[in-house]
Amino acid sequence: MATIIDGKAYAAKLREQVGAEVAELKTKHKITPGLAVVLVGADPASEIYVNSKGKMCREAGMESFDFRMPDTTTEAELLAKIKALNEDKKVNGILVQLPLPKHINESAVINAIDPLKDVDGFHVINAGKLATGQQGLVPCTPFGCLLLIKSVLGDDLSGKNAVIIGRSNIVGKPMANLLLNANCTVTITHSRTKNLAELCARAHIVVAAVGKPEMVKGEWIKNGAVVIDVGINRITLSDGSKKLVGDVAFAEAAERAKAITPVPGGVGPMTIACLLSNTVKAACLQHNIQPQVFYPPYSSDCFTISPNSSSKPK
Ligand code: NAD
Repeated sequence: MATIIDGKAYAAKLREQVGAEVAELKTKHKITPGLAVVLVGADPASEIYVNSKGKMCREAGMESFDFRMPDTTTEAELLAKIKALNEDKKVNGILVQLPLPKHINESAVINAIDPLKDVDGFHVINAGKLATGQQGLVPCTPFGCLLLIKSVLGDDLSGKNAVIIGRSNIVGKPMANLLLNANCTVTITHSRTKNLAELCARAHIVVAAVGKPEMVKGEWIKNGAVVIDVGINRITLSDGSKKLVGDVAFAEAAERAKAITPVPGGVGPMTIACLLSNTVKAACLQHNIQPQVFYPPYSSDCFTISPNSSSKPK
């Protein structure tokens, strides 16, 4: 039976360490890192996410600036807001909550953010830096996945076969580049891939980022693999109740994997923690301060959920 990777505990530890780094930046350099989040429109899921980013920012001792703009906002108005935030010295990180209303060009907006303040890591300059192995700001979700993988396998991932399912710009592609930079042999799979089950069967590491409930079957998983489930899917059970599930058939896969992330409580909590960590890193880069390596230690039992724990996913 697989170890269940406790993303919630790991993320809490990471936020704690970010808080310690923030305290040091305040006392040593008189810098309080600040994150600006821009939300256009009133999507309820985005509102919850944005509120929780603000709360966790403040808990880590950082400044949080929220900007709510109506869904009638024009692209020019949004670009003007980004220009103002780029110039604001109190703002070290800028995040524009996606998706944007259809009349706004997402790429134009993302690429208008100062790359040094691009804490989502989606700017083409940061994507290019990641692809060429240079230091930049890395997308939060795949970076969180990498930390969880290392929490199980340790720092050295050399020679591991990794299969990424999904090729989006926000998860699949940056995940592939992170694992390639960590010397894995990476296969990126997608909706047109043939023989996905066979490819997965060779993987020491599987990262599923598709958005299809329980698509990855247990029998596809190599014995002893590490399985990271990025998917978040809300399904309706036969009794009409709702449940969140990932892209991996959890119970089946857990019978073969060495370690697996649950949904919820796996990758999800890591995303905001990595956003906070990126904001501190951005503040350091903007002030020519070497960012500290403050990631929680690897291979620690405290980041797994024991079979008897009440937080075990249902
Ligand atoms: P996306 O829709 O942009 O990309 C999905 C990818 O899956 C595509 O590249 C597509 O080619 C691939 N795909 C579709 N069908 C496939 C199939 N049958 N076989 C193999 N590949 C297939 O999605 P995304 O933004 O990358 O998100 C993926 C999932 O991760 C979603 O459920 C999303 O909600 C979740 N997500 C979670 C977090 C988090 O913080 N936990 C963050 C981002 C995304």
